[in-house]
Amino acid sequence: AAFRPSRHSTRPVRVSFEFFPPKTEEMEKTLWASIERLAPLAPSFVSVTYGAGGSTRERTHATVKRLVDETALKPAAHLTCVAATRAEVDEVVRGYWAAGVRHIVALRGDPADGLGAAYIPHPGGYASSPDLVAGIKAIGNFEVSVAAYPEKHPESPSVEADIEMLKRKVDAGATRAMTQFFFDNDLYFRYLDRVRAKGIDIPIVPGILPVQNFKQAASFAKRAGASVPPWLATRFEGLDEDVETRRLIAAAVAAEQVIDLVDRGVTDLHFYTMNRADLVYAVCHLLGLRPQAEPARAAVAAE
Ligand code: FAD
Repeated sequence: AAFRPSRHSTRPVRVSFEFFPPKTEEMEKTLWASIERLAPLAPSFVSVTYGAGGSTRERTHATVKRLVDETALKPAAHLTCVAATRAEVDEVVRGYWAAGVRHIVALRGDPADGLGAAYIPHPGGYASSPDLVAGIKAIGNFEVSVAAYPEKHPESPSVEADIEMLKRKVDAGATRAMTQFFFDNDLYFRYLDRVRAKGIDIPIVPGILPVQNFKQAASFAKRAGASVPPWLATRFEGLDEDVETRRLIAAAVAAEQVIDLVDRGVTDLHFYTMNRADLVYAVCHLLGLRPQAEPARAAVAAE
């Protein structure tokens, strides 16, 4: 039968997965169990975040290095401008190049003093995300991805200012943006229209946060400036103590969001996995992704 990821789309869907570096041995086991489960789905790439203020510099590097050494996956290392000189950031970038990493997710990062504080560039550091993108491209021909904000970044005075920043990142060499998560797909499509109207033609890949725990997701959303529609809260209402039903609702909510995106033309999705595989795996299955044998996976990774 012809492949159909959804009722209205015949185009195959590509996915990427985001992980964060583990803090403890226990978390490390969970992460690698999740990577093992998701790897056979042959994602386009897997990315590893960089802790606020550069706090996970070594752990991000170690996780990315292990992905290079032990898997056929293509890793992307997140990197921020925060709390480091240009020389320090450049050293991290060269270290990635030497380790065989060819994709960096370049971010300004959050103020070292925490959210809510004004962002003050490190003296002698990269001043902004476009500056960092240019710095990375000057070191090696990395693929550089950046962040985009369908509901605008909380510090941004307007969507226009936000899109202008995205344009500067693209002009500096970024070739893909992953969005902050959102729950209302119309917000994404309205944003996409405005981005395209400014002549920005790189892929703007929707960032999907499968809601495993509503309270936690709502708290992330508040910090990220992402809105939580009332219907989402209603769906999880009364389930705080009912893990089993919550899991089923979580799967239904995530399925509904991604199928609607795919029906409306989206072909690439970036999942914030929170280092957990189950829900993401199920949603990918629903979108038609099936485990690939090892040689096929290696071929995808080598593309
Ligand atoms: P930019 O795109 O440079 O700026 C975002 C907006 O803020 C701009 O549109 C601009 O309007 C406004 N702005 C920026 N600088 C200023 C200024 N000086 N004055 C006024 N307005 C300004 N954070 C981490 O610490 N580690 C990660 O690994 C990480 N990964 C992420 C991955 C994705 C896909 C996303 C969406 C976010 C991620 N973040 C991460 C969060 C990110 O670091 C924060 O959102 C940060 O506040 C902005 O970084 P940026 O590169 O998006 O900023």
